[in-house]
Amino acid sequence: MFAAAFVERITNPHHSGLKLPQQKAATAGKAVKRLPPPERLIVSLWQHAGEPCSPLVQKGDRVIRGQKIGEARGLGAPVHAPICGRVVAVEPRLHPSGLWIPAVVIENDGRDSFLPLDRSFLGDGGSPEEMNPEGIRRLAREAGLVGMGGGLFPSYVKLTPRDDPRPDFLILNGCECEPYLTCDHRLMVEETPTLLWGARAMKRALGVSRVVIAIEDNKPDAIALLRQMVRGLPGFEVRVLPSLYPQGAERTLVRTITGRVVPRRGLPADVGVVVHNVATASALGRALLTGEPLLQRIVTVDGDAVAEPANYWVPIGLPVRELLKAAGVDESALRQVILGGPMMGTAVADLDVPVLKGCGGVLAFTARASPVDEAGPCLRCGRCLDACPQGLAPFQLARLVAAGRLDQAVTWGLADCVECGSCAYSCPSRRPLVQYLRMGKAAWREHPRPAVRTTLPGTPPTGQLGAVSNGIPGAQPRALPDRGTSEPVNQEQEVIPQGAA
Ligand code: SF4
Ligand code: SF4
Repeated sequence: MFAAAFVERITNPHHSGLKLPQQKAATAGKAVKRLPPPERLIVSLWQHAGEPCSPLVQKGDRVIRGQKIGEARGLGAPVHAPICGRVVAVEPRLHPSGLWIPAVVIENDGRDSFLPLDRSFLGDGGSPEEMNPEGIRRLAREAGLVGMGGGLFPSYVKLTPRDDPRPDFLILNGCECEPYLTCDHRLMVEETPTLLWGARAMKRALGVSRVVIAIEDNKPDAIALLRQMVRGLPGFEVRVLPSLYPQGAERTLVRTITGRVVPRRGLPADVGVVVHNVATASALGRALLTGEPLLQRIVTVDGDAVAEPANYWVPIGLPVRELLKAAGVDESALRQVILGGPMMGTAVADLDVPVLKGCGGVLAFTARASPVDEAGPCLRCGRCLDACPQGLAPFQLARLVAAGRLDQAVTWGLADCVECGSCAYSCPSRRPLVQYLRMGKAAWREHPRPAVRTTLPGTPPTGQLGAVSNGIPGAQPRALPDRGTSEPVNQEQEVIPQGAA
């Protein structure tokens, strides 16, 4: 039975998705709050896919809000000063990735000056439909826009249409399928005109005929508002999708909206589709309308350790500790802090890491909601297999990564893992599958050679604050299905088929 299920998943990677506890009620209906001016920001020079930026300022310099302080090297996105102040350090600082990455530390001097972006190259027309497409891409680059859903890919690259195939579809991802997170929901409700201005500019830059705003059915107010506002915009429509996880994963979204299947190791652009997050569209709209680069974003702060769960406008570079303090978190009660959602987010070991452009949530939990679970042995139950939206065999990938057999893990599709966490959430043995897969992918990126051996430990690392993120704190995996056996199997006895895709 198990083998049959495995073959079916490998050959037919479509599944309906997980129905997760939403946990959004505490923040979804509240207006986004403003924070008091920060005293100090740590603006990381690495907030995008690609090399870190080169600093344009040095210790002692005065900067004003909007000033470019880091220039992209190659593929990348510049960073800007979110406040006026004095640069007190340009030095490596702890990054949410756990690495020490160069950052510009700015101390607020209380001034309120602003340096807007140059927009003279956009063309003479006032509306997005009349703007120069190349000018829109240039502004997206100069504004430091990246995928704000967490992808962090420089937006101007995704706004550059391929010649073959030419894109004909733009999907704006407003699904926000992770539990707890409501930052995109609030943005769609409160920033609708700015979002649509940016969306129209994206349509113009890409030259596509259709724009679909994809929203899960748990956001009825955003759906109603956007449906009303897109009336009269040619080619625009709002598509309502069921609340399933990971509905917002690009590959899933493209298949659901267009029926097209993104090839393995491919991109939506391979099938003529471009996907941007709604927050990215809104940031582009803001840059076009006001000349403001990406200096701030909406962040959901929630979890059982948070006294005032809400969404906040947060300046890029605000230390997580300051944000939690503003939300009424008692640090002494903390067990785990996650940046992002509970399924795909990263648990941090130090609260002095800064908020980055792609951070949509800061979740803080006490030991009550986030107990330390001992991982049990793999039961070969196949739950992870059923849960994987990519049609992978997570238990097998984790086993290969733990054994340092990365070449075989890649053969089994390691690179196709989108780190959605569905497998770990479904695992009755609480195996830290995603952590193994992340480690394996990172090691493979470092040494993409066949037969590479790594020094990966048998057990993924645990942060000082608590266990790494491994699903929804407090949530129990679904009941174990009857698959005919619950006996642990000797993992080393498994025969690995060569050439399996
Ligand atoms: S984390 Fe990777 S292996 Fe696990 S379910 Fe998601 S895509 Fe599949
Ligand atoms: S015990 Fe966990 S890792 Fe093993 S097959 Fe079941 S779900 Fe997958």
